[in-house]
Amino acid sequence: MKIKYNIALVAHDSCKDDLVEWVAFNKAKLKKHHLICTGTTGKLVEEEINRGIEPESRDYIRVMRLNSGPLGGDQQMGALVAEGKIDFMFFFWDPMTQQPHDVDVKALLRITVLYNVPTACCRATADFIISSELFENENYQHKIYSYETYATRDLKHKQ
Ligand code: PGA
Repeated sequence: MKIKYNIALVAHDSCKDDLVEWVAFNKAKLKKHHLICTGTTGKLVEEEINRGIEPESRDYIRVMRLNSGPLGGDQQMGALVAEGKIDFMFFFWDPMTQQPHDVDVKALLRITVLYNVPTACCRATADFIISSELFENENYQHKIYSYETYATRDLKHKQ
């Protein structure tokens, strides 16, 4: 496969073990792509994806690490989505714990829907996405919606 996707991986603390296990299981597929993570998730993903490989080795894969989620990482990820730079989002978020950056999480999930980015919020959905025949189909293009009408809407200013 020639395409290199930009794949976002994020997990809240209670879901990190689950994501790392999922990354280990899907390592062969994930290694072919660019991985972009929030800070702490990225550290764990980089460790797992390179298990047994020395950092000096040319086979060592660098994961792009944004800030930690509560320190703005979700917002940085959202900006990448808005710029069309994220192809898939695997975001294992915790439905049982109040997060200090709850609003950022909500914003990130909103922006992935706005830009029609395939997004998995739980492991089962992640399994379906990564095992879909569309995942490795170079001809599949997800629909890009035009928001031109909205962006150029007529706003009457009252002076
Ligand atoms: P973290 O952030 O990877 O730095 O823990 C995750 C999150 O968005 O909460």
